[in-house]
Amino acid sequence: MCSNNTRKTANFKCPHCGAQYLPGEVYMPGQLIGHPEEVVKDSLGKILYEDYQEGREPDMIEHFICDYCDKPFVIEATVTYKTLAEEPEKDFSTQYVSLLD
Ligand SMILES: [Zn+2]
Repeated sequence: MCSNNTRKTANFKCPHCGAQYLPGEVYMPGQLIGHPEEVVKDSLGKILYEDYQEGREPDMIEHFICDYCDKPFVIEATVTYKTLAEEPEKDFSTQYVSLLD
């Protein structure tokens, strides 16, 4: 068993009994961000068109039945993205971290 108590992952609670869940217990991998089948962009990188196969579009809302009180509830995720310019000398070869998968 791997225990990492220093890691702080966003979690949510059952609104009925307060049981805590991690997103990975409820959402399928890739469900939150979806998996586009086609993305069309102009020459400057602006997205003109996006298309998803059925069931592959981003899905922020999940219906779930609590493991502890057996009552249903709805989870709506809010995903935001922040970008920062990387310094050119930064070494990308040593570590790769993926938060959403
Ligand atoms: Zn509950």
